[in-house]
Amino acid sequence: MKVHHLNCGTMRPFGGALIDGRRVDGRKSVFRAATLVCHVLLLETDDGLVLVDSGLGVDDVRTPGPTLARHWRLLSRPVLDERETALRQVEALGYRARDVRHVVLTHLDLDHGGGLRDFPHARVHVLAEELDAALSPGKKAGDRTRYPDAQWAHGPEWVTHEPHGEPWFGFDGVREFRPDVLLVPLIGHTRGHTGVAVRTGDRWLLHAGDAYFHHSEPTAEPHCPPGLTFLQGRMDTVRELRLSNQDRLRELVGRHGDRVDVFCAHDAVELERHQHRAAR
Ligand SMILES: [Zn+2]
Repeated sequence: MKVHHLNCGTMRPFGGALIDGRRVDGRKSVFRAATLVCHVLLLETDDGLVLVDSGLGVDDVRTPGPTLARHWRLLSRPVLDERETALRQVEALGYRARDVRHVVLTHLDLDHGGGLRDFPHARVHVLAEELDAALSPGKKAGDRTRYPDAQWAHGPEWVTHEPHGEPWFGFDGVREFRPDVLLVPLIGHTRGHTGVAVRTGDRWLLHAGDAYFHHSEPTAEPHCPPGLTFLQGRMDTVRELRLSNQDRLRELVGRHGDRVDVFCAHDAVELERHQHRAAR
């Protein structure tokens, strides 16, 4: 299968290096906007297209009001460029929305499920617990913001999965519709948060969603800029599990980094690394 690494939503929050940790012109300035991305995989398979996460969608960009809460927009400062949406990038490759047969979501936060409405014919795969949290009536204010109902008002064809499967590098690998796409539950950021593993030849990609936010976190010398550490803590649902899953990911990279490429949803450095590699 061919794998495309797409950015389906740039965000430019204030805080510069406090958020992205980047050095620009040799300086770690906090007086600039940081860059965060929405790393989405587009898989060209022998059985149609598959998206892993969907970033922001066309409606989010054109009329953000119903899905992107005002305070979220003020904090995240999304660029809202329609060309970044998965739909427009799928079309730029010569496909139509209908060609996307499956969307596999790490979780249902607005910056991951925003593109769902652009692919109404796709089956949407999530952990059952996540769908439960997102659709539960009487959601708390925070959950109403992160899980906007307008995102699935078109009635997607949901396919839910329980968080147990076959052993996969010490994790549970929940087999999806194909043997080379597995859900790898990484609970913590949300109640039903999962990674998505994709087999590419004799290697695997693991899209870890929001299990961590900065490329240094799953390394032998873990580091996360303070602003991002704060944001992760503010947004998590089950803290102990989020932190223990970060430990497990670190172990995975340490032991099996030669066979598994782990990356998260919002880190621009990881996205650039993968896009570079794919271009070569
Ligand atoms: Zn996110």
